[in-house]
Amino acid sequence: MDTDFVARQQSRLLGELSDFLAIPSVSALPAHAADCRRAAEWLRAELSRLGCPAVQLIEGDGHPVVWAEGPAVPGRPTLLIYGHYDVQPPDPLDEWTSPPFEPTVRDGRLYARGAADDKGQVFCLLKAYEATLDADRRPPLNVHFIFEGEEECGGHVISDLLRAEPERTRADAALVCDMSYYAPGWPAVYTALRGLCYAEISVRTLERDLHSGTYGGVAPNAIETLVRILAGLKDESGEILIPKLYKSVEPPSKEELRVWKKLPFDKADFLRDEVTGQALTGRKEYSIFERVWALPTFEIHGIKGGFVGEGAKTVIPAQATAKVSLRLVPGQDYAKVGRLLERAVAALAPRWADVKVTLLHGGDPVQVDVDHPAFALLDEAFASVTGRKAVRVRAGGSIPIIPELGLTGAPVLLSGIGLPDDGLHSPNEKLDLAQLWSGIEIFGRFYELLAERGGPTAPPPA
Ligand SMILES: [Zn+2]
Repeated sequence: MDTDFVARQQSRLLGELSDFLAIPSVSALPAHAADCRRAAEWLRAELSRLGCPAVQLIEGDGHPVVWAEGPAVPGRPTLLIYGHYDVQPPDPLDEWTSPPFEPTVRDGRLYARGAADDKGQVFCLLKAYEATLDADRRPPLNVHFIFEGEEECGGHVISDLLRAEPERTRADAALVCDMSYYAPGWPAVYTALRGLCYAEISVRTLERDLHSGTYGGVAPNAIETLVRILAGLKDESGEILIPKLYKSVEPPSKEELRVWKKLPFDKADFLRDEVTGQALTGRKEYSIFERVWALPTFEIHGIKGGFVGEGAKTVIPAQATAKVSLRLVPGQDYAKVGRLLERAVAALAPRWADVKVTLLHGGDPVQVDVDHPAFALLDEAFASVTGRKAVRVRAGGSIPIIPELGLTGAPVLLSGIGLPDDGLHSPNEKLDLAQLWSGIEIFGRFYELLAERGGPTAPPPA
């Protein structure tokens, strides 16, 4: 690997990344569809420039998937690299110090929507690849790239593609760089992600809104009915009261619990700086890490109904709706949890109310077996640059495509160069440039270690 690559090329690299970040590829907003395509085209041009003989934009019912294969290196292993070029909407705009699509460096940090999630990390993996090309522009191993444009909006072009053509995932390892260090100086690999079951609960108790003077005292109130149902789904100790919900939950291993106990963590700082509340809630018999990584949750996201305008209107509302979701952990299955939720709501609903549960979307939790030898190579790469191996942690959120990347048996290495304060999905998202520069070296080392010791590709089963 060209170890001076970053030192010599820093200003060019910063310019290239800024061009990529300046494209407002907001996948959730139809008005930005052309920008999403421009971001895909940017990647296509970059991959061609890096010497990939074939680069494709694969079309589907949404934003295209970018697929590329580096030059074939016979006898060397194959690495599949995943990332996403789409970003979250930038609002509220007035909270940004510099505009979200005008990348700006302040104090060694690059501020822009997508700086950490995930364009900056995609860029890091591409430049690590560039740094390992030899004088003939040959990489040390076979690399396949797959970048999607719908990670943030729940599209399914990539999962349709991988289900139809699972051989695209045939690799000795898959690398996903869409996560952060546990803390500054503490690189991480992720052993599990939570799944999600998102639903709407709607209640109708009357044909129309009524006068609370004339009918108050006898007419069933839809909001009251809804909040009683919601209150019946979780108690004050944080225990979710949906029958059988915890039955299939697989507790974390002893080894995971041992590692979590040793992580640097200050509860008071966490409460003040991150949670910004006055107390932590939830099941006190479990540690905070267990509560955010290893237990299911039930959250109410919003309630609609009745009168919330200015002044007073004395109404008994006829209908009310709540958006709710459960985060799921290994052992749980979102379709099954959806049925348990429907059943629990039906049991709490009074017979005189019309109560409906509509499942809006979801995904299963993910568990990664980190015993595969590729993880030891990634540790070695991290240790050679940061002095520390990657610590094994979990994440409370979800990346829906992860299970499909491992479809043909490749271990999925889930890691990244972000820091916990990058502000993903928030105003003033940033990437620390020191993380980017060291990340290029780390992943370049990882490609070389995998090339040397990652084993030749197993022949496909007959
Ligand atoms: Zn992301």
